Amino acid sequence: DLSRISRALLSVSDKTGLVEFARALAARGVTLVSTGGTHRALTEAGLTVTEVSDLTGFPEMMDGRVKTLHPGVHGGLLAIRDNPEHQAAMLAHGIAAIDLLVVNLYPFEATLAAGKPAAECIENIDIGGPAMIRAAAKNHKDVAVVVDVADYDAVLADLDAHDGAVTFATRRRLAQKAYARTASYDAAIATWLAGEIEAAPESQTVRAPAFQALGGTLAQGLRYGENPHMKAAFYRTAGAPRPGVATARQLQGKELSYNNLNDTDAAYEAVSEFDPARTAAVVIVKHANPCGVAEGANLLEAYERALRCDPVSAFGGIVALNRTLDAEAARKIVEVFTEVIIAPDATEEAVAIVAAKKNLRLLTAGGLADPRAPGQAWRTVAGGFLVQDRDNAVVDDMPLKVVTKRAPSEAELSDLRFAFRVAKHVKSNAIVYAKDGATVGIGAGQMSRVDSSRIAAWKAAEAAKAAGLPESLARGAVVASDAFFPFADGLLAAAEAGATAVIQPGGSMRDDEVIRAADEAGLAMVLTGFRHFRH
Ligand code: 5GP
Repeated sequence: DLSRISRALLSVSDKTGLVEFARALAARGVTLVSTGGTHRALTEAGLTVTEVSDLTGFPEMMDGRVKTLHPGVHGGLLAIRDNPEHQAAMLAHGIAAIDLLVVNLYPFEATLAAGKPAAECIENIDIGGPAMIRAAAKNHKDVAVVVDVADYDAVLADLDAHDGAVTFATRRRLAQKAYARTASYDAAIATWLAGEIEAAPESQTVRAPAFQALGGTLAQGLRYGENPHMKAAFYRTAGAPRPGVATARQLQGKELSYNNLNDTDAAYEAVSEFDPARTAAVVIVKHANPCGVAEGANLLEAYERALRCDPVSAFGGIVALNRTLDAEAARKIVEVFTEVIIAPDATEEAVAIVAAKKNLRLLTAGGLADPRAPGQAWRTVAGGFLVQDRDNAVVDDMPLKVVTKRAPSEAELSDLRFAFRVAKHVKSNAIVYAKDGATVGIGAGQMSRVDSSRIAAWKAAEAAKAAGLPESLARGAVVASDAFFPFADGLLAAAEAGATAVIQPGGSMRDDEVIRAADEAGLAMVLTGFRHFRH
């Protein structure tokens, strides 16, 4: 587990803390090797240091472009210490092991930030440094690599704690940091070059900004972004993708647009919350918000019930299904103008039915995403990006707490869970009315919760009118709120619309007041303890 450090190669552009660190290494019996500028700094401080040209048998040349790119260096970094063949090769070629590599790179980012001309930026692209860093990091079973001045002290502490050796845990942590550094270094170069290419007057071809920087690979160039004057592209992130838009196969239809992909993602993430072994489910999405969600005995029934919630908004929507698309559901869906259908799979007959609508895009994702799977979500802000865990909280796992005098009935409880499951996928402030496993009114994206409540109730009344029913669909329904009711007014709006039970996270300063209002209105209310903001 311990790697004794006998020889260190130091090659740094940023010489902060260098002399102190090298002196501390020398004091612990470590032999020092370094490149031109680093060597000069160390010898001037009175340290004994071997020049890297003594290892390579070549002078540093071509303005420093070629200094350490040599088997004498890379063999010493990459040789596996307990491998007899590697040992024999070292012996045969006079290669000495390097146990610690200390490198920080040519300041490409700083040169760019200082607004220097392109030629100077290019000269500040480090070649030998990243090569050594990657070699040492690959061989972290035997070698320690330091790419950050901030780690000098930790390495010295490790050496002192372990009799001149570095632990495997430290070496692995340093190796991870090393690859993160070379990745972000190359990403900065790639992003800069992409900007140069796009700025060139003859450029027509680059449609995608350089989001490879986030570890992505280009999946598809897009005609444009959210609006026609915005360029756009779809990138897949590294690693095994979650089933969804990134794994989907487009069987037919027009090219997918940026908005299609964004909306399809929202729809598929939502429908993936419904276990296909328990129920068929359909989500219809418009502008990234569900406008109808329903369970059913089969997909056809689920679709018809989802559509009933808001048939006006469903026009031009995205339809996501949690089971293999069958002919019966397909026949019904193609009757309504729809942009995209996505399902885990589709029967041959269903594919043939959809084929009659040439423009309609049909995607099969190969499976459903696990709503409980961990993961990260990114979003850009000016000058940076925000990262958070994806919301993988599922209502079935939440300890629901009844806080009203009346407890919800079994049927109400089942609808409460359904409504909260949907509310997770509705932009805040989210208010969702549901009855018998179908949404009947959705209020989304309002700046005040009471406005969302009013809109959801109004939608439920409209849906009833469209269906020729005398009474609002909210009557006898349950209601979910993605976050607590800050005042009783939102809750009272729901009671007035006819809701009988409420599910919400709780946690407001005025919970008592809200609970009292629920009791007075005869509502049953449960608290989840989990909030589902979605902004
Ligand atoms: P020094 O100041 O010691 O002369 O140079 C240190 C810098 O050179 C470090 O930033 C290191 O990453 C870089 N470097 C080391 N070897 C090579 C090489 O072979 N080619 C290039 N371009 N840079 C190198």
